Amino acid sequence: MIKSEILYILSAFLFIYGLKLLQRPDTARRGNLLSSLGMLVAVIVTLIANGIVSYQWILVGLVAGGVVGALSARLIAMTSMPELVALFNGSGGLASLLVATEAYHREPGVDSLTASTMFLSVLIGGVTFTGSIVAWAKLSERIDSRPRLFPGQQIVNFALLIGVIVGAVIFAGNPADGRTVFFAIVAAAFVLGVLAVIPIGGADMPVVISLLNSYSGLAACATGFVLQNNILIVTGGLVGASGIILTRIMCKAMNRSLANVLFSGFGSAKTGGTKTEGEVKPVSAEDAYVLLEAANNILVVPGYGLAVAQAQHVLRELGGLLQANDAEVRYAIHPVAGRMPGHMNVLLAEADVPYDELIEMDAVNPTMDTVDVCLVIGANDVVNPAAREDEASPIYGMPIIDVDRARTVIVFKRSMRPGFAGIENSLFFKDNTRMLFGDAKASLEALSGEFKSA
Ligand code: NDP
Repeated sequence: MIKSEILYILSAFLFIYGLKLLQRPDTARRGNLLSSLGMLVAVIVTLIANGIVSYQWILVGLVAGGVVGALSARLIAMTSMPELVALFNGSGGLASLLVATEAYHREPGVDSLTASTMFLSVLIGGVTFTGSIVAWAKLSERIDSRPRLFPGQQIVNFALLIGVIVGAVIFAGNPADGRTVFFAIVAAAFVLGVLAVIPIGGADMPVVISLLNSYSGLAACATGFVLQNNILIVTGGLVGASGIILTRIMCKAMNRSLANVLFSGFGSAKTGGTKTEGEVKPVSAEDAYVLLEAANNILVVPGYGLAVAQAQHVLRELGGLLQANDAEVRYAIHPVAGRMPGHMNVLLAEADVPYDELIEMDAVNPTMDTVDVCLVIGANDVVNPAAREDEASPIYGMPIIDVDRARTVIVFKRSMRPGFAGIENSLFFKDNTRMLFGDAKASLEALSGEFKSA
């Protein structure tokens, strides 16, 4: 017993140190590996030490889960990663709920404290499960991603929450006879999960997913108390805390409060702010080449469209050609560019863009006046000057990369369609902006071709 606790401490250390290494792109891989090792230690110790009832069924679960996990990780497109994370969170929530339900089924006559942790486990687990399913369905557009608001929605949610709290008090007071209340709480948790996510628009889904990730950790932590398993308490706590921190970072990057994300129904009305004036000026790859060939300081701002076009390798190639032409090339990363935090870092790392060429938004903005040409590749909302200039815009106040302050901006996109937030971008109409229309990969290949044939 003592030995297994020591090994649990070792695996907790590996989780925490692994998380720390995830802070930097160049150590992230090692961090992942160490955390996986921590999980392996925890699994082995639990299997050996805890008098497991049925190794056969554990093996079946291990193989089935392993196959599903490995296949989905391999087959999923990079752009669908948030949907996969949503499903994983939902599974985590459901697992906590099922484990707590089984523990109650096995031993209904528990003390009030254990009953309270069972309650927390099924409540948070149930909300996480159905909330994640709705988030997944909205993100994958299996259901309408617009916020669904109905009159009295907050009142219904509030009434449900009060009902659940009353149920919890009754259940904790007499768990042995609380079977009906227990299942009523499970049902209420499922409904609460749906009602909590339905009013949130698709544009805010990544934040919701990060929040649900935190919930899945808290549910696991509560289950750890039910099972009196220290490593589950530690890992659940770690997931809960890191999910909340990530949620905060994302809200900050959009200059919105969590309450605004959860309750404002952002995106329900497609208001676009003040109408933009100016003229759109298309540019050909040949003319863009002329601009780039003469530039000394080039900044690349990648966005979601780069991931869609899978143009990261061609971009890396063009970066090399520009450097060979004696230009300084940097890549500016907006914290919410793409569809998940760190999306652009992962994409550029995949193409071996050196980490020291990546700069964060706050560091790049003060240097923007020195940029000769800024290449905006598949980014839209994160470079929309309306966030700075137009108080009527829904994204007013969101920090952006001030690309419009560069001498010349070349925007790579296929059409004049808006970005994720669904609003017009005044950048496209500025005097110093040129639009290079087409798929980003094809446009970048055409530009590389110009450099190679020069
Ligand atoms: P956007 O979604 O604003 O814009 C992406 C652009 O890429 C579109 O305008 C689209 O234009 C273009 N595009 C798509 N496919 C291609 C292609 N094959 N070739 C060229 N262009 C293409 O992306 P951003 O990265 O600028 O912004 C991210 C958005 O996601 C923000 O609104 C942010 O708030 C939101 N968000 C992100 C989170 C995160 O964690 N990253 C979290 C929460 C929200 P067209 O169709 O004309 O080609």
